[in-house]
Amino acid sequence: MRNSVAIIVLVSLLFQQCTQPQESTTGNVKEDTAFYTAADFYTVKKTDAHVHLNTDKPGFATLAKADNFSLVTITYDDVNEPPPMEEQQQWALKQVKAFPGSVAYATTISVRNFNSSNWQQETIAYLKKSFDSGAVAVKIYKVIGMSLKDKAGKLVMVDDPRFDPIFNFIKQNHIPILGHLGEPKNCWLPADKMTIKGDKNYYTEFPIYHMYLHPEFPSYEQQIAARDHLLEKNPDLQFVGAHLGSLEWSVDELAKRLDKFPNMAVDMAARISHLQFQSVSNRNKVRDFIIKYQDRLLYATDDVVAASANFADMKAAVHNTWITDWQFFTSKDTMTDADFDGSFRGLQLPKKVVDKIYRVNAEKWYPATLKLH
Ligand SMILES: [Zn+2]
Repeated sequence: MRNSVAIIVLVSLLFQQCTQPQESTTGNVKEDTAFYTAADFYTVKKTDAHVHLNTDKPGFATLAKADNFSLVTITYDDVNEPPPMEEQQQWALKQVKAFPGSVAYATTISVRNFNSSNWQQETIAYLKKSFDSGAVAVKIYKVIGMSLKDKAGKLVMVDDPRFDPIFNFIKQNHIPILGHLGEPKNCWLPADKMTIKGDKNYYTEFPIYHMYLHPEFPSYEQQIAARDHLLEKNPDLQFVGAHLGSLEWSVDELAKRLDKFPNMAVDMAARISHLQFQSVSNRNKVRDFIIKYQDRLLYATDDVVAASANFADMKAAVHNTWITDWQFFTSKDTMTDADFDGSFRGLQLPKKVVDKIYRVNAEKWYPATLKLH
């Protein structure tokens, strides 16, 4: 999907290696050095704050080290997407041990036994064990709101009071929640109306999550409202919204939430193409948004390494994703992406902003990752 982009990246790298950044917003020569180059990719310390190392093989973390990335590997639990969280956690712990200071992990909660009488105790016990083993965050997954039903057959949303003891325990331990709640707005549209080809492919592969096909489930707006209500109920909860907080389609809508909830940040996992898509029509708006909320945005890819993956095959793709994203945030090159038609220009963010979205914010929002690097 990104092959054509990779060729463009290579060509542009060849040119960038021998040029200095020339754009200056003030005309001041000193400003010229405030941007990173393509070559800086290899020397700047970075964190990919949302990957899934569903394996104990070292290939991915080794490549990350070579590209100067530390990683936060995220576990999750969904009967529709095995393996279960316990197995993922074993892999995560092995990766953390094999790459001390380079890999951190997020635990999760399971709602498999939500309707059993001791689900809350079981869940808290699992969390306690996870915190003792160094988990830096707790992922909560879209199954809450999109497939979990209670004994009465009623769909359970994330602001349901039955989650309160769990979230209170997480807060008491000063651990942030990484919340993947809802889906991209495209999920509620027919496939031919979706803005991003990657979304179209995903929902074709997982029709169970394509909400356009399931009008009996809550609307996009209801998903967002339940998440917002959770944050209203818990103003002291450190909350990182995965995937641009499911507000990937509009930096204006996302800005409203970041203004309303000061303890909310978002990761960009698998949604950078949505920022690029918005840049096609209004680059300055996207650039201004990132600069304004530079303390609240975490770089992340959502790259997945399956246990069965042939890492040699995916190596180039992973590296190219990181390089292409770096080009988008640091250069002002004209770029294209296979996910949509049209071209856009790199945002050429100031170095200070790049450092924040690529590392500083991960350390700030997941304080236990401070020991990374
Ligand atoms: Zn993910």
